[in-house]
Amino acid sequence: MPPVNAPYRPEGLTARPLHARIDPGAVAHNLARLRGALPAGAGAPRLWATVKADAYGHGVARILPALRGADGLAVLHLNEARACRHLGWQGPILVYGGLYSPADALLVDTPGLHLVITHAAQLEWLAHAAPGHRPAIWLRFAGDIHHTGFAADGYRAAFDAASALFRRGLAGEIGHLNHYARADEPDGVDDADAVFRDVIAGLPGPVSTSNSAALLKHGARAASTQWVRPGLALYGASPFAGTSAAELDLRPAMSLHSQIVGIQRVKAGAGVGYSRAFVAPDAIDVGIVTCGYADGYPRHAPTGTPVIVDGVRTRLLGRVSMDMMAVDLGPVPHACIGTPVTLWGAGGLAVEEVARAAGTIAADLLAGLSARVSMQLTRQDAAR
Ligand SMILES: *Cc1c(COP(=O)(O)O)cnc(C)c1O
Repeated sequence: MPPVNAPYRPEGLTARPLHARIDPGAVAHNLARLRGALPAGAGAPRLWATVKADAYGHGVARILPALRGADGLAVLHLNEARACRHLGWQGPILVYGGLYSPADALLVDTPGLHLVITHAAQLEWLAHAAPGHRPAIWLRFAGDIHHTGFAADGYRAAFDAASALFRRGLAGEIGHLNHYARADEPDGVDDADAVFRDVIAGLPGPVSTSNSAALLKHGARAASTQWVRPGLALYGASPFAGTSAAELDLRPAMSLHSQIVGIQRVKAGAGVGYSRAFVAPDAIDVGIVTCGYADGYPRHAPTGTPVIVDGVRTRLLGRVSMDMMAVDLGPVPHACIGTPVTLWGAGGLAVEEVARAAGTIAADLLAGLSARVSMQLTRQDAAR
């Protein structure tokens, strides 16, 4: 069993030594973990596994086998729903973006689609297209996030319009969807939920409110709904600033690996990287890692951002450039060309930690890896 930081060299790979490893087993574990947070048995909420943005950068095709236990998938656009069908997913698919144009209604061409409806014209487009497979409808409440959806005073009219489609056989069941703006805060959903429940009071149909943060922090509320919609937690990142994924028993499904491709002995007073953003106070050994912002590593990560070199935690120095970055080899004096580097997701370095250093969130980094980064599945026998 190789140590977790050993360079991973699949047969025949002579590419640049930057790659992400995707661990479907971690996704399966996280799915089971999230299920475990919900009541079991009849009446338990069902679970949409959110796989928008190509499964938060992990690749839907790579992780779909690990999501067999989900009740449905949630995507952004109908094209992604088609891709999931193409990959063999036969269960329900929730489409967060609903319809963007009348032409989108033509993509409602498979059973089991659930469309999130956010404005009245979408219902008219559906009525005109009269799709052969009537989709279930989820009316989205604008809630406290005010992104898309119906405001409180327009919600009932939307329900009536959707009900008319239902009576004409053009739409299936009508559900009620809300998305909280502050689910990561201890008291972040109380007011929002009270307003939502008031708006839908007396209306029939299933309810869905909870993303990862809501499910993990406001479990009782999630349990009182019919469907939950986690995304981030499935991929093993914590949605909470003060709580690590490990503390939540979530396992990272992606790790990002590279190598040292250059070593510089930098004299005291000399700069490293563009604009001399780092100036060596004393002579220092600097390692150059082939990974930069064109790969999706955050350019705003400052000096001090943690990096693992040969299993040892060290730090980024100066500006991240397009193709490379500099790291402090002080704690790793034996590092040489080819020494393995972990940018996140293994060796005790959570992607959340890197994200925080760069002033962003884990989902931004996971979903932001560029096509230039090769992806490999973790070998079944690889160490965790
Ligand atoms: C992306 C998304 C989710 C999943 O959110 P996470 O925070 O990643 O769990 C749930 N609901 C809606 C409407 C979304 O857009």
